[in-house]
Amino acid sequence: MTFKKALCLSLIPLTLIPIFILGISTLKITEDSVEENSVRLLEELAKSSGDSLVNYIEAQKREIVLISNLIRVKECLVAHETKTMTDKIITAGQNALSSWVSADKYYNSSYLLDEKGDVIVSSNGLYRNESFASHEIYKEFDKEEITFSEIRDSFLSEDEKVIYITSPVHAEDFTGMLVMESSLEFYDSLVVDLVFDDTGAAFIVDRNGVIISHSIREVRDTSLVHPEYNMPFKNFGEGKTQKYGIHRYEYQGQQRMAGYYIVDNVDWVLFTRQDLDEINKPINRMLMAVISMFITVSIISVIACVVLIKSFTRPIQKLREAFQRATDESDYIVCEVVGHNEFSELAHGYNKMIKRLDTKESELQYNYDLLSKEQEKTNYLAMHDYVTDLYNLRAFEIKMNEVLISGESGAVFYLGLDEFKNVNNVFGHKIGDLCLKESAKRIMSLSNNNELVARTGGDEFYLIKLGDEEAIDKFANDLLMSFKTPFVFDSIQVNLSASIGIALFPTDAVTTIEIMKCADTAMYEAKRSGKGKYSYYNEQMTVRLNRSNEILDILESVIIKGESYMAYQPEVNLSGEDIIAFEALMRVNSKNLGMIAPNEFIPLAESSGKIISIGEWVIESAALFVKELLERGQKFDYISVNISTVQLGQANFVDMVLNIIDKIGIEPKYILLEITESVFMSESSRNVEKLSILRDKGIKIALDDFGTGYSSMQYLADLPVDFLKIDKCFIDEIAFNEKKRGIVKVIIDMAHYLGMQVVAEGVETKEQLDILKRMDCDIIQGYYYYKPMKQEDILEVLYKINEY
Ligand code: C2E
Ligand code: CA
Ligand code: CA
Repeated sequence: MTFKKALCLSLIPLTLIPIFILGISTLKITEDSVEENSVRLLEELAKSSGDSLVNYIEAQKREIVLISNLIRVKECLVAHETKTMTDKIITAGQNALSSWVSADKYYNSSYLLDEKGDVIVSSNGLYRNESFASHEIYKEFDKEEITFSEIRDSFLSEDEKVIYITSPVHAEDFTGMLVMESSLEFYDSLVVDLVFDDTGAAFIVDRNGVIISHSIREVRDTSLVHPEYNMPFKNFGEGKTQKYGIHRYEYQGQQRMAGYYIVDNVDWVLFTRQDLDEINKPINRMLMAVISMFITVSIISVIACVVLIKSFTRPIQKLREAFQRATDESDYIVCEVVGHNEFSELAHGYNKMIKRLDTKESELQYNYDLLSKEQEKTNYLAMHDYVTDLYNLRAFEIKMNEVLISGESGAVFYLGLDEFKNVNNVFGHKIGDLCLKESAKRIMSLSNNNELVARTGGDEFYLIKLGDEEAIDKFANDLLMSFKTPFVFDSIQVNLSASIGIALFPTDAVTTIEIMKCADTAMYEAKRSGKGKYSYYNEQMTVRLNRSNEILDILESVIIKGESYMAYQPEVNLSGEDIIAFEALMRVNSKNLGMIAPNEFIPLAESSGKIISIGEWVIESAALFVKELLERGQKFDYISVNISTVQLGQANFVDMVLNIIDKIGIEPKYILLEITESVFMSESSRNVEKLSILRDKGIKIALDDFGTGYSSMQYLADLPVDFLKIDKCFIDEIAFNEKKRGIVKVIIDMAHYLGMQVVAEGVETKEQLDILKRMDCDIIQGYYYYKPMKQEDILEVLYKINEY
């Protein structure tokens, strides 16, 4: 049950019940008092009227006794009985009677009768000597008592109803009777006055119930026997009823109340009656008034209660609604604050709480959104590459597994950008990233929706291409073609090519790992065979790959196991007579694989990092050889050592070189470090700094393979370089390619201009030598004069030269 309902159910009855009780008791009290008053009035009326009646009758009785004792009356009787009647006596008797009659206006006539009933004398002189013996009056005559008759017809007129009062007259031995005919008018006058209200009336009945007089004229003369008269009278006779009192009776279906008075000296009863309805009229009016008052007060109370309850419960209701809506609609509804009381405080509290909840929820929502976004990002990043927005390795593997399970056939492309490292080095990482993005775009533009493209790190992309070999081949060509257009970013143009390895599934392999391996191998092969190409995987590639792995194994312990040694290739002057220097070239002679060419093991040593320890060994070996040559009294300018970019990148490179020189105890000027242009591309300033330090110490620096890389004449001027070594590919064509010859000429002139000496590498013919001589090249290195030789062979050669 709601609080409001409970309040209604308790407050309204609580208010109504007292009002009801009050109304009922007021009604009861007033009803009682009104009824009592009315009834008492009836009784009082009856009593006072009855008293008058009794007094009147007593007076009449006294009068008749008085008259019956009058001498004149008695003389009349005696004279009549003794027959001595004279006129004088008659006149005296008649006078006595007539004066008696005239004394009361309600007396009609009076008579003196003898014992036989004959009229002796009358007040009006009538009926003298007539006999009344047959008359009922005479029959009822009581010789001892005064009697009041019942209602009779008048002697004088049969139309008039009268009462006869009789009294015995005793004179000497004779008995006579005095009769007074009394009209009913006195009684009428008595009851007529007792008419009141609408139904209030009075009447007098005799002992037989015959109406002597009635305030209603029509009833008065009917001499009806009143049906209810006898009740009090009867009981009175039995001594049970009081002389006067209240009597209730029903007449013609109408309840009536009557006051009665028993006129005991004549056995009459006087009634004052009124209809109960009329008596109750004021009570009914009062009842109506009380009822309407009760209803009005009830309505007012109920309204007041409802208004009060409403005003009390409204804040609670509001609060409840707010709560309900807050829970149902999961929306923060602020509660309307009504009034200034505990409830409004509660509402204020609720609103505060709601506001705090709201802000908390907003915070939560905000954090949740942040988290969701983070989660989305994380999810996205978990499967995507952040630079190109392509899928990542993980996504590729998942997709690849799906494709394999589906049983479809196709190819995995492994695409690597050629020399991408150089792009980063030359143009910076920003451009490098732009190149990656552009590459991704170009690759994507060639792919279908169901073909996945992923960047798996650095400059490597994996692609899944479904379809037959023809489609795969076309796709590979399209891919290569798409890289033919240079990448242009603002004013910068970058030329990029891609090498692609292709592995077919399920032909080449059936698991993701194996397929990826095959594609890797094929790509490696594509790069090895000249870049900007694609190659399909074949099993020989695996053989080659296995060989690479074997070489890597060998390199791991090549020095400890004594599977390596140093060869030295002399560098001579133009005439070929003097050996000016030697280039130290490492050799590997494995027990398992035999001689392994530097072009095969050096890249592997570089990519595996082995080059660092190996390179150190090379420098040490060269330094030792310098020492030995010097100790043997040989004259030469330096021994040049090839330095890999990886080595130079080592933080301790400078210290390492200087320590070895210092340890072995040679002058730094006998060591020349051959570096390639790539050294100046990554971390160029640092590398320049390192080389400058070494150069300051006396170590010589040469730029190897000049002309193959990003040779820029401009930066040459700023480099700490003493020698330029023109790459063999220029020398190879110098005899028949005029263009190349021109380039070589420019290089030599420029180097000289910059104060550098020029070494020509790979000089194999007299022709080449002659051209270089004409170009004023400084030093010749090539098979034309010497091949790289073991240490002992060099010594032998030197001996021979020295002999000459
Ligand atoms: P490079 O520094 O350009 O070395 C010169 C290469 O040309 C040597 O090959 C040498 O034998 C070869 N050569 C010289 N004259 C002629 C010629 O007239 N005809 C022909 N056909 N070849 C000639 P090699 O010894 O096989 O070395 C190849 C490359 O391996 C070297 O090229 C160098 O880059 C690298 N390398 C060799 N030894 C070392 C080393 O100890 N450390 C490092 N970092 N790299 C080395
Ligand atoms: Ca070299
Ligand atoms: Ca070279």
